[in-house]
Amino acid sequence: MAMGSTAEHPDYGLPEGYTHVYSGKVRDLYTTPDDRLLFVASDRISAFDWVLPTEIPDKGRILTAMSLWWFDRLDDIVPNHVISARVPAAVERRAIICSRLDMFPIECVARGYLAGSALVEYRKSLSICGLNIPPGFKEGQQLPKILFTPATKAAQGAHDENITFDETLAIIGQDEAQSLRRLTLLIYERAEQISADRGLILADTKLEFGARPDGTIVLADEVLTPDSSRFWPADKWEPGHPQPSFDKQFVRDWLTSPESGWDRESGEAPPPLPDEVVEKTRAKYIDAYELLTGKRFV
Ligand code: ATP
Ligand code: MG
Repeated sequence: MAMGSTAEHPDYGLPEGYTHVYSGKVRDLYTTPDDRLLFVASDRISAFDWVLPTEIPDKGRILTAMSLWWFDRLDDIVPNHVISARVPAAVERRAIICSRLDMFPIECVARGYLAGSALVEYRKSLSICGLNIPPGFKEGQQLPKILFTPATKAAQGAHDENITFDETLAIIGQDEAQSLRRLTLLIYERAEQISADRGLILADTKLEFGARPDGTIVLADEVLTPDSSRFWPADKWEPGHPQPSFDKQFVRDWLTSPESGWDRESGEAPPPLPDEVVEKTRAKYIDAYELLTGKRFV
């Protein structure tokens, strides 16, 4: 983990012995009395690399439940960082106890469909992370094969940057880069299948891995949530324009609409979200959870 972040974080009222070590845009990390990690998902939401001034109630609980559900469905492919979901009452359901790993400084992205930064890169260069793609592909179209498109983890405030496989290899080493690519593609394939069974297209997903002291590669962070992945309703899929989605597109659309009064290029912090946008966003996160898991969010 990138140490020394000063991101603001709430006082959860944790018992003694839990020491804050890091806050990202969304999560707050503490060491536990027995030197593990308490991994807390707040209700913060980020867009365009800003943490928005308004929270989405229950978001942290939804993402934690969803990640746990996915970890269970992937644990024959790769070990994961989860130790237990039994956490102090102050962060009940929004946190897990996990092992503290040495994180690889790479965002491991798998893509089956053309969207997001891949679409931008493709339009500029007919390639994504150094991989050539034939001309004529439309926004949202299925790619000729599943791609591993790594990115560097940017320092606070900066954009993550897509990199080639060779660059990945130079950063973390040959064996590790190959393992991360293999695991990322396997996880995507499994998750795409499970999502398809529920009427969802998994367009892409971002994974983070870490290493145990003995070098074992472990799946960490959050997995296959609407914050890290694009899920599209399969019955509404139509390449050629942006797809309806369970991710934060709704919030991004409002922020960039004239209604918000915000100029993305101004360098100024985004405005608070109106209640209606908060409520709709919360409903989307819950929908994604319920559709995928078949459980009700209570
Ligand atoms: P970052 O803080 O890396 O810029 P972010 O804003 O997405 O990204 P969050 O998701 O809010 O960060 O915080 C999670 C942080 O915890 C990430 O930096 C992630 O790499 C790190 N992390 C996840 N799992 C583990 C683990 N098992 N051990 C150590 N660090 C972890
Ligand atoms: Mg994160």
